[in-house]
Amino acid sequence: MKDILNHVGGEFVAPLTGRYLDNVEPATGKRFSRVAASGEEDVEQAVRSAAGAFGAWSATPARERSRLLIAVADRIEQELEAFSLAESVDTGKPLELARSLDIPRAVSNLRFFATAILHFGSESHTTDYDALNYTLRRPRGVAGLISPWNLPLYLLTWKVAPALAAGNTVVAKPSELTPTTASMLAEACRDAGLPSGVLNVVHGLGAEAGAAIVRHPDVPTISFTGGTATGAGIAAAAGPLFKKVALELGGKNPNIVFADADMDAVVSTSVRSSFANQGQVCLCGSRIFVEQPVFDEFVERFVAATRKLRVSDPLESGTDQGALVSRAHLEKVRSYVRKAREEGGTIHCGGEPPTNLPDRCKNGFFLEPAVITGLGMDSCVNREEIFGPVVTVLPFRDEREVVRQANCTPYGLAASIWTENLSRAHRMAEQIAAGVVWINCWMLRDLRVPFGGMKHSGVGREGGMEALRFFTEPKNVCIRYPEDVSEGIRP
Ligand code: NDP
Repeated sequence: MKDILNHVGGEFVAPLTGRYLDNVEPATGKRFSRVAASGEEDVEQAVRSAAGAFGAWSATPARERSRLLIAVADRIEQELEAFSLAESVDTGKPLELARSLDIPRAVSNLRFFATAILHFGSESHTTDYDALNYTLRRPRGVAGLISPWNLPLYLLTWKVAPALAAGNTVVAKPSELTPTTASMLAEACRDAGLPSGVLNVVHGLGAEAGAAIVRHPDVPTISFTGGTATGAGIAAAAGPLFKKVALELGGKNPNIVFADADMDAVVSTSVRSSFANQGQVCLCGSRIFVEQPVFDEFVERFVAATRKLRVSDPLESGTDQGALVSRAHLEKVRSYVRKAREEGGTIHCGGEPPTNLPDRCKNGFFLEPAVITGLGMDSCVNREEIFGPVVTVLPFRDEREVVRQANCTPYGLAASIWTENLSRAHRMAEQIAAGVVWINCWMLRDLRVPFGGMKHSGVGREGGMEALRFFTEPKNVCIRYPEDVSEGIRP
């Protein structure tokens, strides 16, 4: 059985704790590898390695950092099949999804920031005729990057690429549920010639390895993607240490359908936005609000389309829905289906494990995608993040009502709005409290735009120049013009 080791100082090393965790394949429920269960001492070792590498890496010209990151992207692209298979086996997601979305996006993340750093500038301001101000932006040191299990390599590279491009060194902790592609990334970095110590990966539990990174005094920057409760704990730990922290957290995203929308496009995209990656995408629309005149038609067509999704072995071609990430997560998602039933909701389809799985998958963590109606906004099913293949559909009368309902949870990550009325689209985009608003689409991503959530969905923005600004420290330099220069340029 393979052991997934930490990557420190350019080497794969066993955890100093001597402990390992089982890594289970969600599609089969069987253990297939072990992953290092790192502790404080492993984090200490990794931070020392990253801190030691910082001086040389931050002094490396941007064009050389760019070249190395592109070389890493090329390696991943050459190994597309191996990375996709590893991601699918670790997460339970369909292999076709990993091959078409997760791994290509990881490659794009690396290429995007490798080239963005070549165009990264800073501001200068002349203060009337008295002084010239310019802004120095320097890398901040060791960045602690903590990422979740739903899009493992995609979200890890979304942090690693800007951190390294900007000249920081990294200690990363992927979710211990899905550690494999993070190790493969470390290997790709080593093979591409990234200097030792620039990227370190420490595996293990969040409460141990993750928390040790957050409280380490020599890690001044923390970028975290994960659940809102975990984010609150990280903010509380990092606050008194005055760290710079970015938090990308949970969501309860509204998908709002007006009667004038193109119903074919709404139905097909809503199936994707509800159930992609088994509903385990932070951007999934989990509450679908439909204007009353088309409510019945939408429910009928949406349920029919959902029933067509093939839930099966993620490694089989033609599988639309794979397994959920763990037994514990499956039980959590099912508990919301039970609550919906108890509260009198109508479950139009799904919500139970499929009965026709191939033998290999009999003990896997599968759930038929569920569509629920008849629950009010006071139901926990409509208020709490479920993060699985469960959506609710609710009718609404007018814009004012749907804005109130869409905004009534503590979250504010993303929203989709479907209408052919341009003025209404602009009005709604203004009023919905979300960091991302899609009009007549979902998950159409441009890596240059600011990405992140409002309210309890996060603090700070990733993406484009926002990420490069986050991973650098701005310093204002103010040079007073000598008297004769000042006099000379005054009109
Ligand atoms: P968690 O918050 O449970 O974990 C995220 C990461 O943090 C994991 O690596 C985890 O390790 C680690 N961690 C846990 N506790 C601590 C701690 N005390 N200190 C430091 N690190 C810790 O989230 P999930 O992995 O369950 O991911 C799902 C969540 O992520 C959902 O809420 C989803 O909405 C959110 N998400 C947000 C996105 C966004 O861009 N806004 C994108 C994708 C997901 P361990 O695995 O050991 O617990």
